[in-house]
Amino acid sequence: MKLVTTTDNKARYDYINMHEINFLWYGVLSLLIGLSLYANTLAPRQSWLWFFVILFITGMVAMIVGVIIQNILKFYYPFFIEKRLRKLRYTARISPDNRKMKLLSEEEEDVYLDEGMQAEENAFSVDYDVWIDEISGFTKIEKYNGRLHALQCDECNYQTLKVDHEEVIQSATDTEDGELMKYYACGYCGHKQRKSFTIAKLKMEEA
Ligand SMILES: [Zn+2]
Repeated sequence: MKLVTTTDNKARYDYINMHEINFLWYGVLSLLIGLSLYANTLAPRQSWLWFFVILFITGMVAMIVGVIIQNILKFYYPFFIEKRLRKLRYTARISPDNRKMKLLSEEEEDVYLDEGMQAEENAFSVDYDVWIDEISGFTKIEKYNGRLHALQCDECNYQTLKVDHEEVIQSATDTEDGELMKYYACGYCGHKQRKSFTIAKLKMEEA
């Protein structure tokens, strides 16, 4: 329902990224509980013993099915979500004048981001996308938080690798680049990896 009423691509992206798997899981859970209770009403009831036997059997079946679905949602479903998220993020935005906007490259976009945004993008897992209407000059800036977003794990290949924490190894100064280390952990196989990123120096060289 929420997705049907949300038309903004960025809002849809955030909603799917944050909630879709959880909400599907809650839905499956309530459905399973409902179905097993319903199954209990169908069984002929002779004695208390049978009552508990049937309750136990339906409970077990519901649990097994639940575990299977939970695993599918956790490990296979993210690939499906990822595809949709990518499409939402890179579909051309439409300006108020009904023109297709253009997504700027990392180099081009810096002009439109203030210093705080640039620093945030250089350090930490934040990405800003800048869309521009080349005729009217209208811009739209969208913020993507990499910490909330799972990547593909090198070890098990599932879409379950997330940034665990980040550490500034070397702060950037006016003249020197800094270094940022990102530590990733896989939610499936527990694989850990780290990757070093350069934090651009604070002062731009005068052209
Ligand atoms: Zn893994």
